[in-house]
Amino acid sequence: MITLQTFKTKKTIELGEKIGRGGQAEIYKTSESVAKIYISPLTEKEIEKLKVMVDNPPDDPMKGKGYVSIAWPQDLLVDNNNKVVGFIMPQISNSQGLIQVYNPKKRIGKRINWYHLHIIAYNLASIVECVHKKNYVIGDIKPQNLLVNDRTIVSIVDTDSFQITNPNNEEVYFCPVITQEYAPPELLNAKEPPELLNAKDWKTRKRLPTEDCFGLAVIIHQLLFGYHPFTGFSKETDTANEIKSIPDRISQGDWIYARKAIPGELSMPLKIVHPKIEECFHNCFTVGHENYHLRPSATDWKNAISEAIADLKDCSAQPGAHVYAGSYESCYWCERNSKLGVDIFPTYNDSAQFTVAKLRKTEDKPIKRKTEEIKEYPPIDPRILAWVTTGIICLGGIPPVWNNIIVPIYNQIVNQE
Ligand SMILES: [Zn+2]
Repeated sequence: MITLQTFKTKKTIELGEKIGRGGQAEIYKTSESVAKIYISPLTEKEIEKLKVMVDNPPDDPMKGKGYVSIAWPQDLLVDNNNKVVGFIMPQISNSQGLIQVYNPKKRIGKRINWYHLHIIAYNLASIVECVHKKNYVIGDIKPQNLLVNDRTIVSIVDTDSFQITNPNNEEVYFCPVITQEYAPPELLNAKEPPELLNAKDWKTRKRLPTEDCFGLAVIIHQLLFGYHPFTGFSKETDTANEIKSIPDRISQGDWIYARKAIPGELSMPLKIVHPKIEECFHNCFTVGHENYHLRPSATDWKNAISEAIADLKDCSAQPGAHVYAGSYESCYWCERNSKLGVDIFPTYNDSAQFTVAKLRKTEDKPIKRKTEEIKEYPPIDPRILAWVTTGIICLGGIPPVWNNIIVPIYNQIVNQE
């Protein structure tokens, strides 16, 4: 049994079962959480970065709701020689990789519909928004670092690769990795932005939130359509013998709905999504190809997805399984099934139902589309609450005081939401 100590709280931690191994680290169970232990010794800079992370976590969108969306380092772990060898972080339990829900073949047997996939997209955008609000950049956003549970809660792992900016002195700790299928053209081409010219090596290159927004849009596309937006066949450059790779297509802005691309037989029309989502995809992949500052932010995505969710309709022929955008007017999944004989949201009667986590109520109603379910409610200041309660008790019977004092204060609290 390997015994380590937490750096700040001086607690003894025993490493239990090994539950994962990557190129740089191993993951172990501990009594309360999980430990990430690096295989190679950490540099001073890497240790410094982890210390900044432990001291400055981003807000977790699921904070206080019984879930963890951002698996952030909680404390460093030191060995007998007081050398930092890893860190502890919260365990994400009962979750599966994101590909298991967005890939139609991998989700066979699971009762996941388009509503669930919209909520998953929304929850993912909420994570990215929280990371960016803290002035951090994910840097290597990809489905492999994302988990989702059967209540559509998304969690991001491998957060130690994020680009971190120390809020005290603005020192930047870089993200050392990218995944080309989710990297934006300016990073693959390494020509833009001008201030980063010649900085082809992303290990020492300052990353921008707009780069995450590209990867976010790719993953949202995968969730809603089931495939990568840079697949397809290009009229200009592809031949029967040579089809461009996804990174090549990204560098050239050759996404599936661009003019020069020919969508495959099984690909779906872009208009099946809500117009606000369609607009976001165009702003990211068409307009944002060169003008990356015009890409939708995580907050823009949240707003668009919220509108789309409010507009979703249940199909009367396949209730519970087929959910479609009201803006499309009829059920696209039925239409596709009758044209192609392919249904990526078939009805399953005997499998576990995906549900949507209630963030404010314990009662569970799976298919109910109200944007309020996913709205974040800031806590009401307890002092205001106490004051108003006292006011109601003392003055409640006097109508003028009620109308002129209590009602405006009540409205002020309600408007905070
Ligand atoms: Zn249908």
